[in-house]
Amino acid sequence: MISGPSGVGKSSIIDLLGRRRTFRFSVSATTRPPRPGERHGVDYLFVDRAEFEALVAADELLEWAEFGGNLYGTPRRPVQTWLEEGEDVLLDIEIDGARQIRVTFPTALFVFIAPPGLEELRRRLEGRGDTSESEIRIRLERARRDLAAAPEVFDALVVNRELERAVDLVDALIGSDGRVDHADTR
Ligand code: 5GP
Repeated sequence: MISGPSGVGKSSIIDLLGRRRTFRFSVSATTRPPRPGERHGVDYLFVDRAEFEALVAADELLEWAEFGGNLYGTPRRPVQTWLEEGEDVLLDIEIDGARQIRVTFPTALFVFIAPPGLEELRRRLEGRGDTSESEIRIRLERARRDLAAAPEVFDALVVNRELERAVDLVDALIGSDGRVDHADTR
């Protein structure tokens, strides 16, 4: 489980981690419209609100939460199948979803990626160029709240000061955690 404010560099960390380790990445369903370059089925399953609500009603989501006015959720079946097959699964979800996953998979490893500071996070969000000023403000406020709540939900906090170093730290955390081989599901 990897979580952290948007703009903190989670996707880059996950991409680089994928070069060192084998794991399945859970592709979330979302009602957020695709950003340029994002692909359906790869980055997200882009659905409308009715489709999302149907997934919730059918209990097809392991967890779901609202973020920035959009709904996001983790499809249950792929995760269940992978865990049954003994594969490692990585989720990149926000903190309310992480709380729900904590209940379902209490022994999973929960890592929160933090920015070196909120000003740095603002710079990164602005630099990304795909997030409006009002959205940036909402996301910074949300980041402040999540940072304060992180110790409650997460096992470890990694500051993304320098990308390779952050990947080293996440890699070491997974490596040192014997439980991450999903002994609980076998
Ligand atoms: P973004 O719109 O920037 O891709 O993602 C916004 C936030 O939603 C991020 O914090 C991301 O981790 C979170 N998110 C992505 N997928 C899911 C999901 O399936 N469930 C939950 N709860 N959050 C998600």
